Amino acid sequence: MTGEKGLIDFHCHLDLYPDHASAVKEAELSGVYTLAVTTTPKAWERNNNLARGTRYVRAALGLHPQLVAERSHELSLWESYLPETRYVGEVGLDAGPRYYASFELQKKVFAHILSSCAKAGGKVLSVHSIRSATTVLDHIEEYMPSDRGRVVLHWFTGSKSELKRAVDLGCYFSVNQSMLLNERGLDLVRAIPTDRLLTETDGPFVKHGDRPVRPPDVWVTVEAIAVHRALSPTALATQIRTNLKRLVEASV
Ligand code: MN
Repeated sequence: MTGEKGLIDFHCHLDLYPDHASAVKEAELSGVYTLAVTTTPKAWERNNNLARGTRYVRAALGLHPQLVAERSHELSLWESYLPETRYVGEVGLDAGPRYYASFELQKKVFAHILSSCAKAGGKVLSVHSIRSATTVLDHIEEYMPSDRGRVVLHWFTGSKSELKRAVDLGCYFSVNQSMLLNERGLDLVRAIPTDRLLTETDGPFVKHGDRPVRPPDVWVTVEAIAVHRALSPTALATQIRTNLKRLVEASV
């Protein structure tokens, strides 16, 4: 799908494609502003090195909640890299059945991550909240005052009232094409204020047809959301760019 330059993919695992370097290059050449999230702090250096020379790609320092059970000892490594980055993710909580055993540990790690980011100031976080929206929002409220950094809720699947609470806490939302596949997801996406909206692919975990989605495919998400907002896709893409600009500037 060909889109225009300047689209936003605010949550993509570029290092999980078979060829990381060419995935970075493709994002750069297609002019898609891409946040390359990581799942462990050990992946930070390579992601940061590949992103550093680009105009459109930025790396984020993560410790994925689904890996906390085996990787919580990497929290000190995460901490040591924090001064090198404005962007943090993927972090958050996952209370799904496969990860529930580590939920208490996940909460400790997430509280620590939020506190460190708030203390440092100016960070932008991409946050996972599967089956844990209320607990994630409780943590943000307690540990991340909105003047100390910004939270983007990635693939948000909470309730409408949780969404409203997130908006009141100053959160943004990055929406991917999988969220638009059912009525519940669509209903939630329609409730996101236009000025808090970002787009993402969550590649390579989301499929585009029979292949893993890639950053330029984010155009289909822009088109699909635009339909429900009485905006042209191009006007919506411009609005999303404005949102990103505000998000990044506000968190300095
Ligand atoms: Mn992800």
